[in-house]
Amino acid sequence: MTGLIAGSLLLLGAAAASVVYGWITTNQTFVFLSIAASAGTAVLLALAYSKSKAEIAAALERRRMHSGAPRSRSRRAANPAAPPGSRSRPPASPPDAEVVAVPGVRKYHRPDCRYGRVKGAQTMTRSTARRRSFEACGICRP
Ligand SMILES: [Zn+2]
Repeated sequence: MTGLIAGSLLLLGAAAASVVYGWITTNQTFVFLSIAASAGTAVLLALAYSKSKAEIAAALERRRMHSGAPRSRSRRAANPAAPPGSRSRPPASPPDAEVVAVPGVRKYHRPDCRYGRVKGAQTMTRSTARRRSFEACGICRP
């Protein structure tokens, strides 16, 4: 990668030198030479850029495999919207347990959940709430 950058700098210098020389001597060949050198510089710089990007991506991937994985897993577990372990976990309450269903948001809560203490909340059994297509609250997990 360093070689690519050095090569592109060399070409850039050659381009600058030939454009100056071509300007002084009004020799068309040097102008074309400088254009060619500039194009080569662009190609080399693009190569160096894409190569360094790949290296950075690889380094990030290595770091994520070393330390990032457990952190991202715990963050997902803390997110109540997407509980990954909820399927394997047995229901916290039996089907005939009392829950508080909130019709506006189609969710049901444990009776002691603060999100269930809203106007219009209805007390019913958990199975009834499920039958009426209410969804379990992700915070209190009724
Ligand atoms: Zn709740």
